[in-house]
Amino acid sequence: MTNLKAPASCDDLVAYVDGELPPGRAGDYREHLKGCDRCRERVVEELQLSAQLASLPGLPSRPGPLLWVIAVYLLLAAVVAFALLEALW
Ligand SMILES: [Zn+2]
Repeated sequence: MTNLKAPASCDDLVAYVDGELPPGRAGDYREHLKGCDRCRERVVEELQLSAQLASLPGLPSRPGPLLWVIAVYLLLAAVVAFALLEALW
């Protein structure tokens, strides 16, 4: 199976984690995640890092961003789980 569409790449990782990719591009990147173990690991790492940064005691507590990080993290965990399931099939 070939995919000739110029795809989302590993370069989209940070924008994806930050929620800055437009919806179509985010979908492309999720497709990329299915085939890119490195990105899957890095996305999880980035999200964990964001969560840790958001929970640092020295920073002013702003529930909005933290809730956003948690929501993205849960969404991504679901996406990764789904991608892994599909890969195993
Ligand atoms: Zn990648």
